Amino acid sequence: MRVGVFGGTFDPVHLGHLAAAEEATELLALDEMLFVPAGQPWFKAGEPVTDAGHRLNMVSLAVESNPRFRVSDVEVARPGPSYTVDTLEQLHDATQPGTELFLVLGMDALAEMHRWRCPARVFELATVVGVARPGAAFDPEALSGIFPSAADHVIMLDVPLVDVGATELRRRAASGRSLRYLVPENVEQYIREHGLYR
Ligand code: ATP
Repeated sequence: MRVGVFGGTFDPVHLGHLAAAEEATELLALDEMLFVPAGQPWFKAGEPVTDAGHRLNMVSLAVESNPRFRVSDVEVARPGPSYTVDTLEQLHDATQPGTELFLVLGMDALAEMHRWRCPARVFELATVVGVARPGAAFDPEALSGIFPSAADHVIMLDVPLVDVGATELRRRAASGRSLRYLVPENVEQYIREHGLYR
């Protein structure tokens, strides 16, 4: 089995996430792509983050029509800050022997990897995949601080560039602007029904 792991805050999940995940699933011939909303995103400490239950529900709605997409609550269910290395250890232990994990990250997230907890162990547990994102350029050589040949272990993927980001969507929603066609229809409806981001 080839399993993609796509982590993030998903506050909210949007078409940029979905288009990148679909392309990565196809190009890497993955059997499934696991979306893993962060329970407590440590890199957003001090910033307000929407309740994890809502973020998990929105991702569940967003992936329900895609047979290869799945949502995982491992990070939401685990107490404490959500470190990717812990998630990969947990998934590694829970999956059948021979399962290959592919950690999918936007270029902006890849550029922050040296700040992560145990980044070298992340490379042991998964193949790291960087997906293109508008406005985010990244030279994999910058990963050599993690370990000397880290750059050789990264797959860089060109995916359709969708210039949507969650921060901008929250701003739009707060000023009463439409999120239609930027997030899946059922997610847009969920945001409206629950009065999120007002
Ligand atoms: P925020 O603005 O709140 O930081 P975000 O949309 O940038 O939100 P996350 O929800 O944490 O961030 O993103 C999860 C993952 O998806 C990260 O690896 C991020 O780089 C990637 N990603 C987010 N938006 C896009 C996009 N438009 N295209 C490609 N990758 C994206």
